Amino acid sequence: MTQVLNIIGGGMAGSEAAWQAANMGVQVVIHEMRPKVATFAHRTGDLAEMVCSNSFRSDDDEQNAVGLLHWEMRAANGLIMQTADKHRLPAGGALAVDRDPFAASVTEALRAHPNITVQDAEITEIPKDGHWIIATGPLTSAGLGEAIAAETGADALAFFDAIAPIIHHDSIDMSRAWMQSRYDKGETEDERTAYLNCPMDRDTYDAFIDALLAADKTEFHEGETAGYFDGCLPIEVMAERGRETLRHGPMKPVGLTNPHQPDVKPWAVVQLRRDNALGTLYNIVGFQTKMKYGAQAEVLRMIPGLENARFARLGGIHRNTFLNSPTLLDDQMRWRKHPHIRFAGQITGVEGYVESAAMGLLAGRLAASEILGQPMASPPQDSAMGALIHHITGGAEAKTFQPMNVNFGLFRPVEGLKGGRRGRTDRYKAYTDRAKAAWQDWLVATPAQA
Ligand SMILES: Cc1cc2nc3c(=O)[nH]c(=O)nc-3n(C[C@H](O)[C@H](O)[C@H](O)COP(=O)(O)OP(=O)(O)OC[C@H]3O[C@@H](n4cnc5c(N)ncnc54)[C@H](O)[C@@H]3O)c2cc1C
Repeated sequence: MTQVLNIIGGGMAGSEAAWQAANMGVQVVIHEMRPKVATFAHRTGDLAEMVCSNSFRSDDDEQNAVGLLHWEMRAANGLIMQTADKHRLPAGGALAVDRDPFAASVTEALRAHPNITVQDAEITEIPKDGHWIIATGPLTSAGLGEAIAAETGADALAFFDAIAPIIHHDSIDMSRAWMQSRYDKGETEDERTAYLNCPMDRDTYDAFIDALLAADKTEFHEGETAGYFDGCLPIEVMAERGRETLRHGPMKPVGLTNPHQPDVKPWAVVQLRRDNALGTLYNIVGFQTKMKYGAQAEVLRMIPGLENARFARLGGIHRNTFLNSPTLLDDQMRWRKHPHIRFAGQITGVEGYVESAAMGLLAGRLAASEILGQPMASPPQDSAMGALIHHITGGAEAKTFQPMNVNFGLFRPVEGLKGGRRGRTDRYKAYTDRAKAAWQDWLVATPAQA
């Protein structure tokens, strides 16, 4: 009997997953609810619609992690990348895309594929058997979202992200910052020094609050609600409620002693917490924000110790349905509780068109190889794909898990290379060389294409 791969959602991830599996000889059905059921962000009934910006970001595959992901997807005959290349617009080192012909071409290629059928239907129940990929994205329909939440528990499925900025550890000035948990709490030395602290005197705090209040902020899209606010107020909203609010909230200075100036009591302290098992990334605790990216970087670099901070990702708050993947998914992107179902795309806790398509590519290949009876290992951690899947299915801290872009902070360090800003070019080249070799090895192991 022919085994069919069913894919719910024909966005960036679902489209790529379908293409990959179909090219491996598997019959695929894409279930896409648009145009019958709309979302507040999509405008058309096309597959792979770009809902906002038309950029796939940097196309530099030697010095940029997203450029490397482009390279890996091109090497895997990725539909999203080859179509983006076909409809490329001039944008310097970035890959900008002519969105309408792009989505029309992806739709045409999938509808014309002999192994692919597209059904216009919203799926609202968890499939009981068969092979499935759920790739319904940040705007998963309410019916399916509720069905997933009923299985995962409400705590493991979020409907908004509240992303605090994430910083590369090697860009933090430790001659100003120090490691200490409040009141030295904890059983082990690791726990007693779990937080990275950046102190502020009164003048710095006042200037910081002024900058926060004056900074440009983004507005919610129509159709998004602000009902999430209770648990995670943006820092600028806290500052609007009173100049002292942050000093009594996430920036409170109590229980901490600055070893660089033990006699001076800080007026406020910004705390950062480890964001990945490698210890290469730190997030700023409680600093979710709607500040625009340019303003945000400027304001955050006013924090002592973060003057030269490099951001792995900036903060934001959006309508976004995503799973607590580190607890729910195995390293094959299968739902541990229902292994006949995989998840792919932004719902797995990656962020962005490219990352979502990349996770679709993996889910499609992994599902197809399983259906063909030749299951594959998940990709090696040294590739960009591997670094990303490793992060979402295990490397990230489950308790504070928030969506992530691909970045070099997710990669294992290459031994023997200089850290810090000066060694960066060589380091990134070493990461990308190592990644390309690892990715090609993995591709060779894919079951023969039809
Ligand atoms: C308002 C907004 C702005 C964004 N701006 C950007 C940006 O500028 N740049 C960027 O890189 N990323 C942006 N993103 C994130 C972007 O959505 C993702 O990067 C990417 O589209 C995710 O791909 P995906 O395949 O996971 O989801 P999508 O591309 O959203 O695809 C999911 C598909 O599933 C369908 N679907 C949902 N529920 C069901 C159901 N129950 N049954 C059947 N079909 C269903 C949807 O109609 C959709 O076609 C934005 C997201 C939002 C919400």
